Amino acid sequence: MKIEDFKNRVDLSIRRRRYYSEDCGFVSCPECGSPLIEDSCTVIIAAKSDTDEGEFMSNMTGSHFCNSCPVVVFDSEKIEETVRYGIRGDSNLKYEIGGIVDFNAIPKEKRHLEIGVDDNPVPVVDFLPDLNTTTVKSEKKIGRNTPYPCRSGKK
Ligand SMILES: [Zn+2]
Repeated sequence: MKIEDFKNRVDLSIRRRRYYSEDCGFVSCPECGSPLIEDSCTVIIAAKSDTDEGEFMSNMTGSHFCNSCPVVVFDSEKIEETVRYGIRGDSNLKYEIGGIVDFNAIPKEKRHLEIGVDDNPVPVVDFLPDLNTTTVKSEKKIGRNTPYPCRSGKK
């Protein structure tokens, strides 16, 4: 099958282990130390707050992937922004990323259809079970006054 419609630099079809980084960019793989590849992906986020609840899909940029092992590192700040945008209430907010959507798994003849309907389900790839450590600390530090590439103006 030739895939031209959805271009990702990493294989989104494999189950990966989730990690979260508070230091966007500049992270290496928490399992093998290789440099991570930045790519965007669409994720299913299940969010819940005291006043609202919902499950939604969001396109996440700033996700980092290892090409040597099944690892994905999410930018936790970006996820929280996404969740707050997608849900009205924000007190006691809880969220979980349910999976990464692999658009390449949609058969070509169904790609023009709406996804998420009965005969064209969203192709979600779920995650491998977490290990003990889920927060990644960056080895390379960015200077305090350097604007972070993925945070708008905040330090
Ligand atoms: Zn790795």
